[in-house]
Amino acid sequence: MFARNKVSRSGSRTRTADASHAPFVDPAADLPDCISLDPLNEDSLLANLLSRFKRDHIYTYIGNILLSINPYKPLAQYTEQAIADYKLRTVAISQLPPHVYALADHAWRSLRDFYSDQVIVITGESGSGKTEASKLILQYLGFATGKSKELETVRQQLLLCNPVLEAFGNAKSIHNDNSSRFGKYIELEFDYRGEPVGGLITHYLLEKSRVTSQHPGERNFHIFFQLLAGADVQLLKSLKLQRNTENYLYLRNNHSNPSVWHQSDKDEFFNTKKALETVGFSAEDIVNILRIVAAVLKLGNLIFTPVSNIDGTEGCSINNEYELEEVATLLMISVEELRSALLYRTYSVGCSGMDPHGSGGANCFSRDSTLPSTNSRTFLGNSHQQHQQMLLQQQRTSLLSTSASMVGASMVGRDMYQMMDGCHGSEVGMQVTLGSRVYQDAKDDFVMTDLSAAEATTGRDALCKALYYRLFTWIINSINERIKQHGKRRILSILDIYGFENLPTNGFEQLIINYCNEKLQHFVTEIIVKEEQEVYMQEGLEWSPILFPDNLAVCDLIEKHNLGLLAIMDEECQRPCNGSEEAFLNKVGQVFQDNIQVEVAWGLPSKSSDSTTVNAFRLKHYAGWVTYSVNGFLEKNSDLLVRGLSQSMYQCSHPIVKELFPEGNPRRTTLRRPATSGTQFKVAIIALMRSLRSKNPHFVRCIKPNAFKQPHHFDVQTIQNQLRYLGLLESTQVKRNGYAFRQPYAWFLQRYKMLSTVTWPHWGGVAIEGVARLLRDLPISATEYAFGRRMLFIKNDSTLMQLEDFRRIRL
Ligand code: ADP
Ligand code: MG
Repeated sequence: MFARNKVSRSGSRTRTADASHAPFVDPAADLPDCISLDPLNEDSLLANLLSRFKRDHIYTYIGNILLSINPYKPLAQYTEQAIADYKLRTVAISQLPPHVYALADHAWRSLRDFYSDQVIVITGESGSGKTEASKLILQYLGFATGKSKELETVRQQLLLCNPVLEAFGNAKSIHNDNSSRFGKYIELEFDYRGEPVGGLITHYLLEKSRVTSQHPGERNFHIFFQLLAGADVQLLKSLKLQRNTENYLYLRNNHSNPSVWHQSDKDEFFNTKKALETVGFSAEDIVNILRIVAAVLKLGNLIFTPVSNIDGTEGCSINNEYELEEVATLLMISVEELRSALLYRTYSVGCSGMDPHGSGGANCFSRDSTLPSTNSRTFLGNSHQQHQQMLLQQQRTSLLSTSASMVGASMVGRDMYQMMDGCHGSEVGMQVTLGSRVYQDAKDDFVMTDLSAAEATTGRDALCKALYYRLFTWIINSINERIKQHGKRRILSILDIYGFENLPTNGFEQLIINYCNEKLQHFVTEIIVKEEQEVYMQEGLEWSPILFPDNLAVCDLIEKHNLGLLAIMDEECQRPCNGSEEAFLNKVGQVFQDNIQVEVAWGLPSKSSDSTTVNAFRLKHYAGWVTYSVNGFLEKNSDLLVRGLSQSMYQCSHPIVKELFPEGNPRRTTLRRPATSGTQFKVAIIALMRSLRSKNPHFVRCIKPNAFKQPHHFDVQTIQNQLRYLGLLESTQVKRNGYAFRQPYAWFLQRYKMLSTVTWPHWGGVAIEGVARLLRDLPISATEYAFGRRMLFIKNDSTLMQLEDFRRIRL
């Protein structure tokens, strides 16, 4: 299908940053496949792309790789007629222009014809058009595959899960107004006829920090704005919301203009609701989902005011009680329970494996990002009931100002809390005195401490991030339940993962996103450039090696066992006091002191404010240097919610919320230390790479034409930079001299022997000779194939498709 139009060209060139006046382009040069360029060099590659871009030919082949340049404007090439053209092939596929539909069609035909798993890997910077490409592929597969009634539901569900995922997982970023803030791997299952029968969506690390704060110029997730803009008055009232985004702290981006909702949010809310219904959520499910969204917004509005206790410690109270009451109603939990979870920290007392020196017991694993300061007062008690009674009593007698004698004063520090939090079923037990009250029970003893206003605020934010992230996961799991795979069919996967990011200020999320992009870049160059060349040489084909940029060292630097950045981060997070960002950075400096791809910087001026400074490290990625501020790294990597909060969520009668916090079940005792965010992500990415490797890959490489989201603006510098770091010239050289398809002779003979009377029904000789005879009988040019030691190589996909067409006619 990826036909090559072998027109040679040459051209003189000067550079321009605007497609509207581009003197160096020969208008005749508009080659659908870059491998036909002559001469082939960076300039001719750029000139060809520009020439095509000017004509709205945003797709260009490099052999069987599809390049796509974001037009930043609607194009008229995504019609049902276009789908029909690629599907029905009323004209030869080589006559049709390059298109993402052609790639989708090729992947789908490969699945059906060879009954083998396929994967479409879409890569590119943030805003380069990956998600749009993935949607177009889904659209093609949805329309182009059969229309039987029984499959209609599956098809609809597969197509319509996207608006749901986008509403909850996308947001406006500086790079993209509809930026995916999670990675998405959709596995579509097809039966032997090539009909879709099910699917599975895997998601990768939603950027949940966005729930509580956003970078300058960015917005929170779409659903918040959609809900406020699109809900009717009655729904808003039932969710206890007001329409104005300014009323919600999480929607007011403090760094920039208010991120108010747009007109489109209103329409999108309608689409999201409709999509939720079509995917199979009941009206009750939808209301329950929206109650959580509303609760997050309202929790974000809770303001904690410091309260000084007479003993000099600091506690806090909630300023806007009415918000608390409404949140409690939305989540279906008692106000007291919720207030207590937000204002106090409760720890089980005693812990098997407790370290008397206060360094953290081996079994006391639950790390905590919002530990109370050492001067918080401590209340002690036992059992949930007593806890409740004490709360009430506190309120009656203003216990907030009561002096309490502390337990084991030397241990009432972060270490002690660290040890206690997360430990159950103590056999050690502790005798504790609290003023005149003694709570002493070897079972279920607990210690309660006040949180400062700052700690309560951090806890509130952690709760909101957890609620939102878990809701997102729950929605995807529910969709998966509905589109479940049958397990024995063939898979066509589409990978659309967040693109490379380099923001004015980068943090933990950007490191994770860029790590993922490094891995993908490595996968793509391995497959397209490295392995391809190795096979040619092993098979004895004539081949001049082509060098390519290799980013393995950076992948290693991040993920290496024990000594990679993620491992160093984990080590810090596992320290009894949760480590420190300074210590982390120090270690990075030590471990990588001789590595020219890492630099450590202390006290850099912060980009978001004039006066503050940040500590940071710089990494040289395949796409350039990125500076990461270590601020918040450890907390985000630890990513633990304090037990009291998860327990309170487990107490909610809201049918979904309870399910989201299984660890809040007081009867649940697990001694396993939860993996950190970074490690979980690394494990997921390694599994993803394994899945990609097990399938026949197709590549869409998306290019961003400018940094301003502007149509008609082909910024040569920006594109040249991408061509370079993506190694596209090298890819073109390999594809130009290489082969699109290869299979062992026996396979080839078995599949196509019916195309010649010499080989049909049996060929008695050796396979290679049979294949040679067979090819001689077919109208295929000898330049289209080459004989290796064990395999036959086919130059172009179009030739393979031609063979398949011959075969289908015979069958
Ligand atoms: P990415 O997923 O790579 O971050 P998107 O696919 O979300 O980027 O694209 C960003 C924006 O660019 C889209 O919201 C859309 O406005 C525009 N865009 C991308 N691809 C196309 C296309 N093929 N046709 C028209 N507009 C597009
Ligand atoms: Mg995207």
